[in-house]
Amino acid sequence: MKAMISKCMLGVPCRYDGDSKPIDENTLNKLKEKYELIPFCPEEFALPTPRPAARFMGERIIDINGIDKTEAFLKGAKEALKICKEQKIGIFIGKEKSPSCGIKKTSAYINGCECKCSAPGLTSKILQREGIKLISEWDLT
Ligand code: SF4
Repeated sequence: MKAMISKCMLGVPCRYDGDSKPIDENTLNKLKEKYELIPFCPEEFALPTPRPAARFMGERIIDINGIDKTEAFLKGAKEALKICKEQKIGIFIGKEKSPSCGIKKTSAYINGCECKCSAPGLTSKILQREGIKLISEWDLT
């Protein structure tokens, strides 16, 4: 069974800060036994790396310089969906707290304060809407 997974979780330095967030080897091996992993980074697809951090502000995604990046994030999310449809991928394993890949938590500006709010990121939301099952990195162990 194929599962798309946030690319940074496999150790690829595609995060906004040019870093990665690899999961531990044991968890990765278990995942590989269960799924054919398809790594994808929606932000890297549409934006350079490194890039300014961005957060939800209402329905929009705004970077730390105040620039609206919603369209770029949407472009990456649509590409994720396209790949899932083309490759018949029914599962997305997402990195938490990301405005793209977060499942239980994303980053947001609320009343001028930065916080983590409980809503899926843009890619996760779009994939879920199309019937793709979301699995949080927090539920892998
Ligand atoms: S967009 Fe997703 S895959 Fe890319 S760096 Fe952020 S959490 Fe990782």
